Amino acid sequence: MPETLSPDEKDRYRRQLQMPEIGEDGQRRLKAATVAIAGIGGLGGLCAYYMAAAGVGHLRLADMDQVAIHNLNRQLLYASGDIGRAKTVCARDRLKALNPLCRTETFQMRVDDESVAALLEGCDLVIDGTDNLTSRRVLNRAAWKRRIPFIYGGVNGFNGMMAAFIPGRTACLECVFPDTGAPEPPPSGIIGPTAGVIAALQSIQALKQLTLQDSAGSGGLIHFRGLDLRFKKITVDRDPACRVCSST
Ligand SMILES: [Zn+2]
Repeated sequence: MPETLSPDEKDRYRRQLQMPEIGEDGQRRLKAATVAIAGIGGLGGLCAYYMAAAGVGHLRLADMDQVAIHNLNRQLLYASGDIGRAKTVCARDRLKALNPLCRTETFQMRVDDESVAALLEGCDLVIDGTDNLTSRRVLNRAAWKRRIPFIYGGVNGFNGMMAAFIPGRTACLECVFPDTGAPEPPPSGIIGPTAGVIAALQSIQALKQLTLQDSAGSGGLIHFRGLDLRFKKITVDRDPACRVCSST
């Protein structure tokens, strides 16, 4: 069982401890949890902030980029004074200022089949903050192999998608986006609040998963359309021929 909560922690997380779904047991599980976030941009940065604020004990932050001025319309973890600094370092500093009780580890890296092992080893959950399917496929394969829940998010203009892939319970990312070998489209335009909506959904699912081991609501792909403010949930069946999840 995870360690107990200090008086300071009980005060900091009071509003979560009041929730019957979380309570002291759930908060202790958050404290004991290790969460990897791959890509600390519009989605990953906000997820990291929510995870640190909620009391996740250990965050692993992976990114290889420096903060650029054109990131700042949506990557709210960063400010103008951060331009040119490594995102991992800026994120670590910002999260420490928010919650010194949250331990962070930085990984200055591109996500590939080799680098992903150290990032995911011993993790309880991995959050997708990347912006391309190649990296997501790497994360999906690695998470599935280690039986780690993988919380996918993607955004495009006013629209976004989110799904929770839970090994043994749901389909995997490859079932939804099979690798056809087609080239990836270039990055699209994006407004900040779209990333905010999707990052909030990813964070809710992550906190549910960590505190309740609850994958209720997962197993489908949520589409958000900002122009008409609609959510739609699409059922996703496991592909019996999927090259990632069919053999496990
Ligand atoms: Zn699959």
